[in-house]
Amino acid sequence: MSALAVIGGVMHVSEDEQYACCADCEREVLKADHDYVLGAGTVVCFDCAIRRRGAYHEILGRWTVAPKVDDLLAQMARASA
Ligand SMILES: [Zn+2]
Repeated sequence: MSALAVIGGVMHVSEDEQYACCADCEREVLKADHDYVLGAGTVVCFDCAIRRRGAYHEILGRWTVAPKVDDLLAQMARASA
């Protein structure tokens, strides 16, 4: 057997790539398909998106009604200005 055998054989991604910060509740959330993505590295977690009246379609795997995130987008625009 080769001494160079890859243990596990699975590529590990860094924690930074697995976690995103919710723009609303500021919790670190594990990235998931059902997060509402605002922009690069910025998400609204599922709980917050639902609270903001978004509707997620489990079968389609996407948001059919976008949550109200205007204030968060405005905040982001200010932060990056
Ligand atoms: Zn949140």
